[in-house]
Amino acid sequence: MTTDMTTASTEKNIRVRIAPSPTGDPHVGTAYIGLLNYIYARQRSGKFILRIEDTDRTRFVPTSEQMIFDSLRWLGLSWDEGPDVGGPFGPYRQSERTAIYKQHSDLLLESGKAYRCFCTPEELEAVRKQQIAAKLPPRYPGTCRRLTPEQLQQHLASGKPYTVRLAVPPNGADLTSSTTFRDELRGEITFEHNNVDDQVLLKSDGFPTYHLANVVDDHLMEITDVIRAEEWISSTPKHVLLYKAFGWDIPRFWHMPLLRNLDKSKISKRKNPVSLIYYRDSGYLPEAVINFLGLMGGGMPAEINDGTEQFTLAEMVENFVFNNIRVGGPVFDLTKLKWLNGEYLRKLTPEEFFLAVRERVFGDSYLRQISTLMQTRIETLAQFGDLTGFFFSDNVVPSQEIFLPKKRTLEETLAFAQDQLVTLEASDWTHDSLEQALKKLGEEKTWSVKENFMLLRTIITGSATSPPLLESMIVFGKARSLDRVRRFLDAQKKLASQKK
Ligand code: GLU
Repeated sequence: MTTDMTTASTEKNIRVRIAPSPTGDPHVGTAYIGLLNYIYARQRSGKFILRIEDTDRTRFVPTSEQMIFDSLRWLGLSWDEGPDVGGPFGPYRQSERTAIYKQHSDLLLESGKAYRCFCTPEELEAVRKQQIAAKLPPRYPGTCRRLTPEQLQQHLASGKPYTVRLAVPPNGADLTSSTTFRDELRGEITFEHNNVDDQVLLKSDGFPTYHLANVVDDHLMEITDVIRAEEWISSTPKHVLLYKAFGWDIPRFWHMPLLRNLDKSKISKRKNPVSLIYYRDSGYLPEAVINFLGLMGGGMPAEINDGTEQFTLAEMVENFVFNNIRVGGPVFDLTKLKWLNGEYLRKLTPEEFFLAVRERVFGDSYLRQISTLMQTRIETLAQFGDLTGFFFSDNVVPSQEIFLPKKRTLEETLAFAQDQLVTLEASDWTHDSLEQALKKLGEEKTWSVKENFMLLRTIITGSATSPPLLESMIVFGKARSLDRVRRFLDAQKKLASQKK
């Protein structure tokens, strides 16, 4: 057993968490960070907690939370406490904890560690514009930090809405000008306070910001180790200042390297499918996805299973070494994941493979939905496959003769397909929303309904004749439909560059 136990080996009650925000399809990054937290907890007989950070109501997507539960369970990452399983530190959904954040914000106001800010969004925007014009970093200028007690009373009496901001030191007797914290993978990191904004803790609608809710919850839920993605490093000094303002112990921080596209940019849906739902619906096995994510960052010793790079979740718990994680961003290489998935498919017995095909390719509920679309469209049952092949294949490649409308150039057609992609990404996956969004786009760009829907039909189905398009897309699913449009555009770009 090569597991590193670092400082934690002697400690009891290790508690870690993931804190996804339900803002859309669950992201591969959530599974990656979930996996690391899961391993960390299981190696140390600790607890793995799932907390839903849903305080940003502008980005809230109602179906997202259930998709997070489903996709993490699909991967085998079970949590000990969470909104659906309960636990002694609940509620585990931040929108149900607003009174707690308000209470804590009041504590900071009382102790002078925070202050009320009455600046209006327009005033803040004007300051921001001036700062940008002067090539200064946009920053709250501290106007309301300097209010006299009389001004404060006046504002309060007039019922003016306000936010609560942290008074970043120097403040009162605290003259510190920088904050240093330890990142377990990187060592000490220092941020000068003149680079740390007086962040908003409580918004004028009474909802907390990420920073306040995250710190209060990590403290109240007794989180010992915050294992999260690297992109949160710049928030950490704000969090450390908050822990100090409350007088609380600071957890250990582990910032994990970000997953990257092949070109080393931060992983994005422009270059890779990032939705876990996509991987599930495209016939990846959870064992392969978990194995693949476990390869990211170098925490698994290379010699395991003779260097095959293939291992189970239990083997990861047994062997993973956190201190070996390299901070250079690991590349999310889809070709490798596909290869690995093929390896896992071949590990199945013929019967298991058959059952996987029956369940995952020809599942009852999927077939039932497709049958509904086909009953009025065929004369013999044998024709069922003729119009439905695209539901069961991974790649459809419509030729130019099929997808290019008669009166359009290739260039404008591809530009319109790109607009369709953006429109679909932003749309709810219901018939009415899709129809309205696509029609609105067509009107804006003066594409007729016929041209508009025909182009999309050929991209999704590979053919000019198909069951009804929007119904088909709903059955096929958002993640896979979007992927199909993206792959179409990529393939066309490749073709164009070959011709140059
Ligand atoms: N809600 C944040 C997210 O969506 C949590 C970040 C953290 O772990 O502190 O990733």
